[in-house]
Amino acid sequence: MAERLLKCPVCEQYGKKEDMIREEDKRYYHKEYCHDRWLKDREATRIENEQWDALYQYIIKLHDIIVLPKGNITRLKDLRAGYLMKNGQKVRQWRTGPDYGLMLEAYLLADDSIKWCIVNKLDGSKDTKAINYGISIMIDKLNEAFARRKRKKEHEKQIRKTTTQDKTIKQELKSKNTYINNDDMDISSFL
Ligand SMILES: [Zn+2]
Repeated sequence: MAERLLKCPVCEQYGKKEDMIREEDKRYYHKEYCHDRWLKDREATRIENEQWDALYQYIIKLHDIIVLPKGNITRLKDLRAGYLMKNGQKVRQWRTGPDYGLMLEAYLLADDSIKWCIVNKLDGSKDTKAINYGISIMIDKLNEAFARRKRKKEHEKQIRKTTTQDKTIKQELKSKNTYINNDDMDISSFL
């Protein structure tokens, strides 16, 4: 009887059960490449959802509302997908847009000016238009947020490098000490 082959959802090719891993979604993924790919995608989705949630919570607090209007959600999701609105038209701006984490970072940079605008320009209104106004201010801060993120990453890389160097030196000292200790023991064993 022919062995039943299983279809891998990642590459859509069929494979033998022994070459595959069963996941919690009850589907089988190729042990090589596809399963790793699936794990990475799942992690990326988890981060994406988490960042969206944080951004959402921030905006409703900023505008003192309970739910974000659909029009604003669409605009943010379009931005994430790489589209900007220009003269009422959706225009592709990037292959993929800034992530929700970066939008939140930009919002935080624009926090004061948006709060000022809410009081002085928007007369405290909380409708889609008012929130869109805030989104536009946030978009203007995206480049600055991006530059800051890059600087921060560079700084963290530098710290990691220094820590690794420190560790290597410590390890070298340690192995040297072990060597000396062994030497001592050797001497005492002669006495
Ligand atoms: Zn596969």
